[in-house]
Amino acid sequence: MEFSLTSEQQELVDAASRFAKDRLTPSYRAREAALCIERDLVREMGELGFLGPELPESFGGLGVDCVTSGLLLEQIAYGDFNVAYVNLLVSLCGQIVARYAQPGVGEQWLEAVIAGEKLIAIALTEPSAGSDAARLKLRAARGGNDFILSGEKASISLATQADVAVVFARTGEQVDGARGISAFLVPMDSPGVSRTAYEDLGTRPVGRGSIFFDAVRVSRDLMLGEEGQGFVQVMQGFDYSRALISLQCLAVARASLDETWVYVQQRQAFGKPIAEFQGVSFPLAEAETQYQAARWLCLRTLWLKDKGLLHTAEAAMCKWWGPKLSCEIIQQCLLSHGHGGYGSAYPFAQRYRDVFGLQIGDSTAQIMKMIIARQMTSTVKV
Ligand SMILES: Cc1cc2nc3c(=O)[nH]c(=O)nc-3n(C[C@H](O)[C@H](O)[C@H](O)COP(=O)(O)OP(=O)(O)OC[C@H]3O[C@@H](n4cnc5c(N)ncnc54)[C@H](O)[C@@H]3O)c2cc1C
Repeated sequence: MEFSLTSEQQELVDAASRFAKDRLTPSYRAREAALCIERDLVREMGELGFLGPELPESFGGLGVDCVTSGLLLEQIAYGDFNVAYVNLLVSLCGQIVARYAQPGVGEQWLEAVIAGEKLIAIALTEPSAGSDAARLKLRAARGGNDFILSGEKASISLATQADVAVVFARTGEQVDGARGISAFLVPMDSPGVSRTAYEDLGTRPVGRGSIFFDAVRVSRDLMLGEEGQGFVQVMQGFDYSRALISLQCLAVARASLDETWVYVQQRQAFGKPIAEFQGVSFPLAEAETQYQAARWLCLRTLWLKDKGLLHTAEAAMCKWWGPKLSCEIIQQCLLSHGHGGYGSAYPFAQRYRDVFGLQIGDSTAQIMKMIIARQMTSTVKV
């Protein structure tokens, strides 16, 4: 077992850490007010090789391992959790596109996405199908050599900013169930596409929203993989994104703890720094312990993926625990700052609102625990 970073990993982590400190942290709050992520910033991340670094070099990626990609995303999220959605979506969608797009189509779109020229989204959820995504209704009917998409996707991150989306639609005759679902790469400027943003509790720069498809014509070339195989493809992708999401959330806990350890040594009460009261330092010590355990679980999950080993249950563990733990730690850090923590002088309130959403996004804790329990009951002999 080897826990230290290679020099290549360290270089990327250091570069991302500098970028986060200089370009992300100072505007974390301003981005919330602007309700968007600056395109220049995304291009800069592309130029620096921060987007989809694990994707093959033939698509413009760096071809590094998934552990390295996770370490990099962690640094971006430390600076601005919302900007890290771009990294997350490039990695999640990029894996699907690189693997399943038609030759030529994948390169055309992924090169632009990895370069930070285009934003990509994943559109699976619908108003009546979330946890039970296999019940999705969006229809892709044949129209000559094309497919014609009609319906609504709901709750899509980057809905109003994305240039292209991986869209899951029903091409088969079944009215529900995983069979008959296909995936398409749909340019968001296609005639018939319209979008609305939600007014969310947090992650406002990400602009979660609905995408409406009104007889949107998509050529057969834009289908990803085999017809009817879309659901299987996305589920494989989620085993990866769940570990990344957890690291994204935990990075915000890390930033909050780093600031809080400084604060509690400076803030005085009853004639001494509040860090000297165990009522203040013990909850932080517990948070450190849990943070370490959760973070290493994520890195090991990415390592399992890199080794080509099964990591479905581990990914589900990352996904239910990391976002929840991060919210608990941010809350503790806010409390440790007293009345100041509750106000806008500190970023804890925004962080809490931002991270909270990923307890739901991608899948909820209940669904993750069902996956873990299913694996345990199918592998542990009675
Ligand atoms: C911040 C954020 C970002 C998102 N980004 C995207 C995106 O980019 N693309 C996309 O496609 N979707 C996205 N989503 C949607 C997200 O994936 C869904 O919201 C999620 O899968 C849950 O679906 P639902 O909201 O329809 O809840 P429901 O499925 O209606 O569930 C409601 C509640 O019931 C519980 N529940 C459901 N079934 C069971 C069960 N069998 N046992 C126990 N409990 C159960 C759930 O855990 C939940 O608490 C995002 C959501 C959020 C909040």
